Amino acid sequence: MVSNRNINVALIGNPNVGKTSVFNQLTGLNQQVGNYPGITVEKKMGFCKLPTNVKANILDLPGTYSLNASSIDENVVIELLLNKNDKLYPDVALVVTDVENLKRNLLLFTQIKDLEIPTILVINMADRMEYKGITLDIPYLEQHLKTKIALISSRKGFGIDALKKLIVTYKIISTEPCLNASSIDPEYFNTLRKTFPNQLLYKLWLVITQDVNFLNLDRNEIRSSFTKSHSDLKRLQQKETIKRYQFINDVLKVGLKIDETVAKDFRSKLDRVLTHKVWGYVIFFLILFVIFQSIFEWSKIPMDFIDSTFASLSAFTSEKLPAGVLTNLISQGIIPGIGGILIFIPQIAFLFMFISILEESGYMSRVVFLMDKIMRKFGLSGKSVVPLISGTACAIPAIMATRNIENWKERLITILVTPFTTCSARLPVYAIIIGLVIPDERVFGIINMQGLTLMLLYLLGFGMAIFSAYILNKILKIKGKTYFVVEMPNYKLPLFKNVGINVIEKTKAFVFGAGKIILAISIVLWFLASYGPGENFNQAEKIVLEKTKDKPLSKTEFENAVASQKLENSYIGLMGKTIEPAISPLGYDWKIGIAIISSFAAREVFVGTLATIYSVGGNENEVTIKNKMAAEINPVTGEKIFNFASGISLLLFYAFALQCASTLAITKKETNTWKWPLGQLIFMSGFAYIVALVSYQILK
Ligand code: GDP
Repeated sequence: MVSNRNINVALIGNPNVGKTSVFNQLTGLNQQVGNYPGITVEKKMGFCKLPTNVKANILDLPGTYSLNASSIDENVVIELLLNKNDKLYPDVALVVTDVENLKRNLLLFTQIKDLEIPTILVINMADRMEYKGITLDIPYLEQHLKTKIALISSRKGFGIDALKKLIVTYKIISTEPCLNASSIDPEYFNTLRKTFPNQLLYKLWLVITQDVNFLNLDRNEIRSSFTKSHSDLKRLQQKETIKRYQFINDVLKVGLKIDETVAKDFRSKLDRVLTHKVWGYVIFFLILFVIFQSIFEWSKIPMDFIDSTFASLSAFTSEKLPAGVLTNLISQGIIPGIGGILIFIPQIAFLFMFISILEESGYMSRVVFLMDKIMRKFGLSGKSVVPLISGTACAIPAIMATRNIENWKERLITILVTPFTTCSARLPVYAIIIGLVIPDERVFGIINMQGLTLMLLYLLGFGMAIFSAYILNKILKIKGKTYFVVEMPNYKLPLFKNVGINVIEKTKAFVFGAGKIILAISIVLWFLASYGPGENFNQAEKIVLEKTKDKPLSKTEFENAVASQKLENSYIGLMGKTIEPAISPLGYDWKIGIAIISSFAAREVFVGTLATIYSVGGNENEVTIKNKMAAEINPVTGEKIFNFASGISLLLFYAFALQCASTLAITKKETNTWKWPLGQLIFMSGFAYIVALVSYQILK
């Protein structure tokens, strides 16, 4: 019978064996990335056309060391392989291995094979064999591992066609297991077999030992009648692993030969330098320095381009379309909203380009190794370094970069604390306030006070991130085994294709994930700022005319005054006035209130909003905004609104508050629930409020 259904092919393998490269080779850009339902593990599917017109869905499963689940990633793999009813259940499994680490990689292979799924052994990185002096006896290995082998190099692209041909023949691949499960403990396993004669013994064993869902069987029933003590189960699991390695060693003794004299020790020399106690850090920080310089430098042009394109698009639409609500919505709500999403793309793309190059080359593993000990003290992982540092550009790509932290607790903490690092959107806010309230003076003749303040704000953000990680680590009760696998892959030249696909995927994930929410919030804010109740808003022109009867304004002055009058009486303006009692103890008036509310979408909006409120509009000459702001007097205290106390209070507020809708959106996307982003919002804003309050009260 010929079936028209696409066959399901699952890619399984240890991390770093080149699974992603094989996936990319098989599917090209026919990929879809999503999440497994209810959890944050990335689900990568692709499509591939095989010889003789067979079509295949390729599922790239998360990297896993064994079927002894210790992370949600591994659970995903086990659950899928246990549930024949799952619509993704593989017709054939490809276990990808690295020819240089065959022994360790085969452990997982033997486990998968014992689930009686047709399994092909893909031995990757064949291009390294000559260099490493490795030879394989493929027929012998095929015979003893009871499988078919595809020897490939996903880097050089050889063996891929043969692999595709092999997949088509999946029905005739032996499903005989490698290890006889009952040899682990004959008595125990025989009872199991008698009780569940129709079930595969190894599956039952996994159900008993792993915390996984298994739909066909009542797990509790099996567990309760067969549970040994925890330590007995652990002992049996160890026995299983030992038996598997004995089997693997026996097979490899004949099937794999390594001529040690050929292997060169370039790698160990390089490792010694890159993980050196001093040089390791120096090199790492130099590399970071270069990366961030480049991200800022290279992103500037495309960002400015996006910015000006959307500004002119907005002006163009408002000019060309018939005046009305819809036109305003498009030109002032939707277009700037989309611009506000796309403007992040250059930074995201460059950051992920660098990250994938560092990962692909094998260097990232050395950094993780280097930083892990320090970071672990604060409940973070060595892998948190990249997100925390990327946060100085923008929290959005930084939070996305937490994906390769395996341990969920460490990943969550990193996600939650990253927004404290000083992102580039805080810079315009800091710049204008520092310019207003910190004297442009030097101490000791060399240190510029304004520069010093800026640096302190950066340190404050970073310190706060580390400190809250420490606290979160103490209070979050999430279990998850934290054992650190020192995975030191070989150094390799990055594959352009892998880097490119990664950049495209990450950018897409941002635009279509967080982008939707950012757009929605921008539209809501636009609405709140463009509408208002009553005459004060709707008759703004008339009111301004009346007020300025005696000294008529120029056209621009008049427009600015109207804009200002409207903003004051719009919904957002009224909200600013409503919250005034809550923010006046911080030294702010309702105008700053409006700026705070509207800059909730993105911090940098703060300056623009103040510009509108202080009716400078049109040509946004910062000097003018600054002068206007500097002249503002608080009618209650009779003092300047922007004085030292309120300025410091504002700086601290912006240092700590989560004034960024995009961050909320991305945290929601990465944690798959609103619980964490809301917690983050309440904590950060609450903390910011208290700090700003205390500092104002002390300084005023
Ligand atoms: P994954 O973690 O299993 O998904 O592995 P990746 O596909 O990300 O590859 C890990 C590293 O191995 C990357 O640096 C790849 O460039 C490299 N790599 C992948 N396939 C090959 C190959 O066939 N030969 C060599 N020499 N390197 C490869």
